[in-house]
Amino acid sequence: MKTIARQAIVIGASMGGLLAARALADYYQQVTVLERDILPNPSNNRKGVPQDRHAHGLLSRGREAIEQLFPGITQELTAQGALSQDLLQQTRWFTNGGYLYQKSPSDLKGLLVSRPLLEAQVRKRLLSLPNIKMIENCHILGLLTTPDRTRIDGVRLIHHQADGSFESALNADLVVDATGRRSQSPVWLEKLGYEKPQEEQVQVDIGYMTRIYRRQPEHLQGDLATVVSPSLPNWRYGVILAQEGDRWIVTIGGYLGERAPSDEKGFLEFAKSMPAQEIYEVIKDAEPLSELLPYKLPTNQRHYYEKMARFPENYLVFGDAICSFNPVYGQGMTVAALESLALKNCLDRGSQNLRKRFFKEAGKVVDIAWSIAANNDLRITQVERTRSPMVSFLNWYMSKLHIAARRDRVVAIAFLQVSNLMASPKSLMHPRIALRVLWGNLLQLGIPKAVKYRLPLRTAKI
Ligand SMILES: Cc1cc2nc3c(=O)[nH]c(=O)nc-3n(C[C@H](O)[C@H](O)[C@H](O)COP(=O)(O)OP(=O)(O)OC[C@H]3O[C@@H](n4cnc5c(N)ncnc54)[C@H](O)[C@@H]3O)c2cc1C
Repeated sequence: MKTIARQAIVIGASMGGLLAARALADYYQQVTVLERDILPNPSNNRKGVPQDRHAHGLLSRGREAIEQLFPGITQELTAQGALSQDLLQQTRWFTNGGYLYQKSPSDLKGLLVSRPLLEAQVRKRLLSLPNIKMIENCHILGLLTTPDRTRIDGVRLIHHQADGSFESALNADLVVDATGRRSQSPVWLEKLGYEKPQEEQVQVDIGYMTRIYRRQPEHLQGDLATVVSPSLPNWRYGVILAQEGDRWIVTIGGYLGERAPSDEKGFLEFAKSMPAQEIYEVIKDAEPLSELLPYKLPTNQRHYYEKMARFPENYLVFGDAICSFNPVYGQGMTVAALESLALKNCLDRGSQNLRKRFFKEAGKVVDIAWSIAANNDLRITQVERTRSPMVSFLNWYMSKLHIAARRDRVVAIAFLQVSNLMASPKSLMHPRIALRVLWGNLLQLGIPKAVKYRLPLRTAKI
């Protein structure tokens, strides 16, 4: 431990807050996490994270980063029923009208685990650190500052206890806002005389409908997941993910106000109308273990804290409070884990100018995930927004890449590495991949009929 100050406060004890606190624990004598919920024991759903009832996929890069922060956690989760997954061989990916190559194993590893179990285990590991304190059932009212308002030095909170509710103040050398999409940071900053951060939104108005089913060994011929990306003709999408306890979690939905119905018959019909049929084939006969549950989310939403010229010292914003993505791409927890690693790197160099350095590094992480989510959403013609020629070209190229990836393992893996945040999107433009994309599309068109399908390039080094 390399102590740089005494007390850090993290507001919010969801994945973002827990992962932020993990980074801080190596540098602050005490880290206090403040959460408005009463936290469930051991791993039930909770009110402050309503999305925890819906499918949560953990990207390969997120699994690695969380393991780096809490060594051994993957094994602890698999011991509780979470499933290790080969993201190529045991997962069916339907995108742009076809399935990615699936026939052989890869070293792309995922972890299938319900969101409440993952969060509970991360919380347990965090609380096992000697300098972490959790205060539940408290609501943060605002920030405390020095008289000149250049420095945040704590928070004001209401703590609900058995004998009443008490307002109090808590001082700290650093405050981190990890309160998610509805973070009050822009409002709090404005009240202190700062500008609000620049905000960008891509309106998607997506609607999820989720249900849990009992998983039988014969379902999906033993595969562990299917991901149906938003695809023509109707841009409907969905996932079926194996979870601990021999369960499937199924989430399906639509864009721009379209919702799967919340009655049994309508839900099944919607599943049948999707661009791929696997989910329907499983759930038409599977035993439901929960009610149908809706969720809607209007936008991809990003705040550019890294661009703010004036910002108080000793204050950071983290996780969904910086950027909340269209969840269809499963990026939020991975981005929070990568922000935690970035925060650790920044703190390793001390607390001087921390906010500038952290927001710059977090911005780089968010940039990549944002470009994947926002650009993909712009494939949907009805999503209102100007498309630059570059975005139109990229989406055209991706549709060609997906065609090639149906029979080319190298292209399929290169795509999955990018969508799992293991490699930069630029890697897909590398000539090694671009040539294979060209070849795959020529094959699809039946042009090189007489030529045997064989390329000199064996593996993609990206
Ligand atoms: C429907 C849906 C599906 C998703 N699917 C995926 C997926 O498949 N994969 C993935 O990686 N990500 C997914 N995400 C995103 C993921 O849930 C978040 O990125 C992740 O939870 C990290 O967010 P966070 O901790 O920053 O904020 P949140 O999860 O929103 O947590 C905020 C926390 O702050 C607390 N809080 C709020 N205000 C206060 C206050 N004033 N005082 C005290 N406490 C407060 C809340 O109670 C809560 O605990 C999905 C999101 C949604 C909405």
